[in-house]
Amino acid sequence: MTGEHEPHDRTTGDRTTGEHPTGDRKTGDGTRAVRAGLPEPEAYAPALPGPAFAAHYHLPDGADLLQGPYTYGRDANPTWTGLERAISELESPDADAETVVFASGMGAISAVLLSQLGQGDAAVLPSDGYQLLAPLGERLRGYGIEVRTAPTGGDAQLSLLDGAPAADGGEPRPAKLLWIESPANPGLDVCDIRRLADAAHARGALVAVDNTLATPLGQRPLDLGADFSVASGTKALTGHGDVLLGYVTCRDPRLAASVRAWRKMAGGIPGPMEAWLAHRSLATLQLRVDRQAATALALAEALRDRPEVTGLRHPGLPTDPAHRLAAAQMRGGRFGCVVSFVLPDQEHAERFLAALRLVDDATSFGGVRSTAERRGRWGGDAVPDGFIRFSVGAEDPQDLIADVLRALDEARAPARGATGG
Ligand SMILES: *Cc1c(COP(=O)(O)O)cnc(C)c1O
Repeated sequence: MTGEHEPHDRTTGDRTTGEHPTGDRKTGDGTRAVRAGLPEPEAYAPALPGPAFAAHYHLPDGADLLQGPYTYGRDANPTWTGLERAISELESPDADAETVVFASGMGAISAVLLSQLGQGDAAVLPSDGYQLLAPLGERLRGYGIEVRTAPTGGDAQLSLLDGAPAADGGEPRPAKLLWIESPANPGLDVCDIRRLADAAHARGALVAVDNTLATPLGQRPLDLGADFSVASGTKALTGHGDVLLGYVTCRDPRLAASVRAWRKMAGGIPGPMEAWLAHRSLATLQLRVDRQAATALALAEALRDRPEVTGLRHPGLPTDPAHRLAAAQMRGGRFGCVVSFVLPDQEHAERFLAALRLVDDATSFGGVRSTAERRGRWGGDAVPDGFIRFSVGAEDPQDLIADVLRALDEARAPARGATGG
């Protein structure tokens, strides 16, 4: 489909025609979310057209095979186009941008890393990011890419942009790509995206930000200087725990084209049904993230006074080490739905999780139904045995907090006769 030098067409999800579907780019987040990516109203047509199930499209003699817009189902699909436009409007309301959707967050992350990096390049990754970033970084090393890692907190990645001289005296390799995750999952540290992006750009490096936790309503990485905003739509973006999805948004059409070309080659495409469900979910994004962020803060405040709780983190908590920075670069008091904390040991954490009634013991986060898990059970994160990652849903705050405090009370002493497990 799209080559590097093609003019933008209507499959790319961009908005270079000057018309804006919400009419006015200054609309509020909720207004933008309910209308994002919708086609112009048409008599007797639905507001959000249903999923287009098509592996191929009619291509009569004379049809433009290169420009499409729709030729083969791995290249483009009208349901993706609508979703891609919607995400572009949310990630970048004030400047034209293009979005490329993927089958999962990892599809999107690997597309940026693998389309932008090659043998001999250097990349700086967070050491406390999503748990699959480390094995993916190992894979990149195997492809001859130098991967350097540092924690998110304290902007520690800054010191790795220039690189160090090699052991054999070889020249230091300046980074070609800086990967940021802020707030980082699951530890919830935050870095100064603008500061890191400026430093990376001064050295000619590209900057990608994993925006999964914040969602585009909570943070706009492209406004903060990033070249790519990348996210798992599986989490808060779609918010119902029933869809896997990922996306990459960027303003430079050449970067978008290279990511789109990678998707066509690697084939990590979302199904039309998933793309449609995701687009449908965006209409309630503001309602969900506002409610979930407010309840997350209330839960964090309720946990602050519990003696068995240590290491409590939530960027919205005024006493959190990341709060000042988060408040400066995140939007609308939307600090995400995740609260993390540590209980004394693995058994204590397991008793707590088992005692919860309104919270499912499950991984992932961002859904309307609260979930929590002992993160250490996966083995991929450097966290204590009693570390809990709690994802606050859309329940009534007082019900949820009461359930958590009751479960903490019950978890204090092992139940008599309990066999554990
Ligand atoms: C879940 C997650 C991913 C991976 O997304 P999938 O949709 O599960 O592939 C990437 N980054 C972060 C921060 C995540 O939480």
